[in-house]
Amino acid sequence: MSIPVNTAPVVKVRFAPSPTGYLHIGGARTALFNWMYARAQGGKFVLRIEDTDQERSRPEYEKEILDSMEWLGLIWDEFYKQSERFDLYREYAEKLVAEGKALRDGNAVLMSVAKGRDIKFDDQIRGLIVFNTDDIKDQVLMKSDGSPAYSFSCVVDDALMNITHVIRGEDHISNTPKQILMYEALGFKVPKFAHLPLIMGTDGARLSKRFGAVAVTDYRGEGFLAEGLVNYLMLLGWAPSGDQEIISLKNAVAKFSIKKINKTAAQFNMEKLKWVNAQYLKQTSTVNLVELLVPILKQEGLLTEGVDRIWLGKAVDLFKTRLNTLRDFIDRAGFLFDEQFRLADDVRVEHLKKNMFSEFELLASRLNSLDMFDIASTEKVFRDVVAELGVQSAELVHPIRVALTNSSVGPGLFETMVMLGKDKTVARLRSAFLTPA
Ligand code: GLU
Repeated sequence: MSIPVNTAPVVKVRFAPSPTGYLHIGGARTALFNWMYARAQGGKFVLRIEDTDQERSRPEYEKEILDSMEWLGLIWDEFYKQSERFDLYREYAEKLVAEGKALRDGNAVLMSVAKGRDIKFDDQIRGLIVFNTDDIKDQVLMKSDGSPAYSFSCVVDDALMNITHVIRGEDHISNTPKQILMYEALGFKVPKFAHLPLIMGTDGARLSKRFGAVAVTDYRGEGFLAEGLVNYLMLLGWAPSGDQEIISLKNAVAKFSIKKINKTAAQFNMEKLKWVNAQYLKQTSTVNLVELLVPILKQEGLLTEGVDRIWLGKAVDLFKTRLNTLRDFIDRAGFLFDEQFRLADDVRVEHLKKNMFSEFELLASRLNSLDMFDIASTEKVFRDVVAELGVQSAELVHPIRVALTNSSVGPGLFETMVMLGKDKTVARLRSAFLTPA
């Protein structure tokens, strides 16, 4: 005799964004924690687009949310859109009307809330939470325009989709008792709730546009790696054991539990995010970095056709350990690509105080006559010129670096020359002291 098996997943969670804006840091963290919990428990992860507000919902936001989730690697098992389910919400609202649990007001449906009752739930993160119905107004279930109220469609869907754990931001805590009342009225099983701590800016205020609440797309555009952003996001309210900070998603999933999520607000720290990302950039192979950089360099107009990937790989190796983001590569290595290189006036004024036109010219002509333009040969030319002129090499190194790169900091001087190649090196040395037209 075979024993019947219950095939319903033990854990089913959902991320339920409203497409009224881009997926920002807070939403991405909510999605990530849901996704991690589903994977850790061998459960299912649902993506549900809550586009009931037809005025404010936009297809471009929905697309951006989906793209961002895919980029982060948070792939869903099931997908729903609430705008396709209005009949269902109406049906359940009518059922409540028929049962005398709600009443119709024109096209709207309302549920009255009896006063004087405690509504309790055991939040998986915060423990026991109690609200009194004295503080809860009568609830709109369906609006007169035919659309459902957020709380109601959310409850109907969570119940019909067999959601076992509702993991969402702390800003939804006060919606929970209202929703529990709706579960009760509908005769549905109440899921477990886990409310994630708020994310604050480093200034202690709630994360705002001004500080860190920017869209995942923006971080992507800034040149953060998906792996780096995901690793940073998971540290916002949760930590693997010990003080391990760099952890792959796979290992994090193995260690993840809701019980270990903090109750206290998490702090968004841009410097930390950059540091985490830098660790991932260092781990990424040069070949892969080249592929990630080519589109950015093209977009910036620094590369046209026929990319020399070997040369680009060498440039990447020179800067790889100094990058926080892919974009940093443009700031630091942009001088290598610049065909119309022109020393910035303020840089000239600050760093090329002493006119060294003749010294630069001597060096330029010697370099120009080299057949083999490599580190050893350029260094030898430089040492010979320094000896001939009877100057300290330090006196020349600094202005030369500035003349070649527009910056006073950078990788080794001869590596820089070799990366630039003979023609650009010579041309930049020759034009350094020419007053711009
Ligand atoms: N659509 C809601 C929001 O964007 C999500 C509500 C929930 O997770 O229950 O905030």
